[in-house]
Amino acid sequence: MTVDKPVLIIGGGLSGLALGNILQHHGIPYKIFERDTSPDMRSQGWSISVRDLCLGPLEDTIDPAKFATLGSTSAVNPAMPREYDIALVGAHTGTIFLKTSAAKNPSPMYRVNRRRFRAWLMDGLDIEWNKKLSELRETEHGNVSVTFEDGTQTEGCLVVGADGWRSRVCEHIVGKDTFWKATRPSALRALTAARRMTEEEFAPFGELSRTVTMYFGGNKERSYRLFTCVADVDPTREDKYLVQWLLSCFDDTAPVHASNTERLAQAKAWSDSSLEGLAAAMVNGTPEGTEVTHLIIHERSPRVLEEADPGRSHRVTVIGDAAHAMTPYRGEGGNHAIRGAAELGKKLIDAYQENMRIEEAVAAYEKDMIKRGDEAVQASHFSAELFHRPSPEDGGEAMGRIFAERISGRIQNASERKKVQ
Ligand SMILES: Cc1cc2nc3c(=O)[nH]c(=O)nc-3n(C[C@H](O)[C@H](O)[C@H](O)COP(=O)(O)OP(=O)(O)OC[C@H]3O[C@@H](n4cnc5c(N)ncnc54)[C@H](O)[C@@H]3O)c2cc1C
Repeated sequence: MTVDKPVLIIGGGLSGLALGNILQHHGIPYKIFERDTSPDMRSQGWSISVRDLCLGPLEDTIDPAKFATLGSTSAVNPAMPREYDIALVGAHTGTIFLKTSAAKNPSPMYRVNRRRFRAWLMDGLDIEWNKKLSELRETEHGNVSVTFEDGTQTEGCLVVGADGWRSRVCEHIVGKDTFWKATRPSALRALTAARRMTEEEFAPFGELSRTVTMYFGGNKERSYRLFTCVADVDPTREDKYLVQWLLSCFDDTAPVHASNTERLAQAKAWSDSSLEGLAAAMVNGTPEGTEVTHLIIHERSPRVLEEADPGRSHRVTVIGDAAHAMTPYRGEGGNHAIRGAAELGKKLIDAYQENMRIEEAVAAYEKDMIKRGDEAVQASHFSAELFHRPSPEDGGEAMGRIFAERISGRIQNASERKKVQ
């Protein structure tokens, strides 16, 4: 692979930053361009589970000294980086469908605070801010030229679109019509916010789970589900717990309100009609003035890439949500984003070391990614439906079985990992 020009990464989210770390560690020239004006432009009050799906591939490809600091810098509770437990609860009956113990968590995984995790990924990388991609052009010399909204231009040997589900890069590869036909809004609607709690306020919720709790509720019209997670534990504050909640239902007629006040009122109305007990208290106790987001999820299978011109050069590709946009109900989008970065990174390292053609490396990455990503998009779609089954009991029991299997799989993975070490 001739790299007289850098790999150009468009987007500084989880996938773009993970790829930047990999290329940097292997001395492959790269540049990251992010449309945000600064690292803290968007609120990132969410936490995600970084699981074996991506942890092993990340560990294998980035600087080991940096990987060793993941838990202590990014975990929701840096004092207990491996803390993770989960409860699945009936919102009306209090039935416990599943409850795991943090002490017995066997898995090689972390529940990370998204803002700190992103900061950890950014550490040591060179990122150009306020660079929104507007145009791409493949040059006659086999390179790719990109133009940003500020009018500046640069050239690279490869462009990697890590630019999220609305990917301008993916749109370039497959064409605008094909891209938007393949990008489907889910009928799911979700309202989400974060609130702070003191030890005393958090205590009854923490008895169920100190990490993730899912409540299964509903009314005569439809099912509603409340997902809550601890997003940060800051021992220096009295209100040390930052708890995020996400209340969702399948109702694509639900109005999208313009202000936080209206969205919080809408969430409280959903809660009043469909939740009781602790679940209702979580939403209804959210203070006025809190930022509330209305989420409309979009799904797109990476099979859309198969509709691109078969003779295309493979000097432009995509990773993460830009390649495969999925519902969050398996908690996998970010994990697949990082895994994709590691898989593409490995292929580029091979190409770099063995002087293989970059196009072959990218085509091989895409072949594997399309299969993996398509399965993940379908599985996440199915999981969203299962989670929102009409009856809270059916939904709770079905999800309980899935999580129990996942946890036992993790136990096996953890012992496999021990054997090979
Ligand atoms: C409510 C919710 C909960 C979730 N929970 C989990 C979970 O528990 N576990 C999990 O694995 N996943 C989870 N996900 C999914 C996860 O957040 C995404 O899959 C992940 O963020 C994808 O990373 P990415 O880098 O591909 O894209 P993004 O994180 O979307 O990053 C894309 C970046 O590209 C930039 N960009 C966009 N366009 C341009 C442009 N034209 N020029 C330059 N820059 C541009 C954006 O500003 C952004 O920084 C959740 C998602 C949601 C909505």
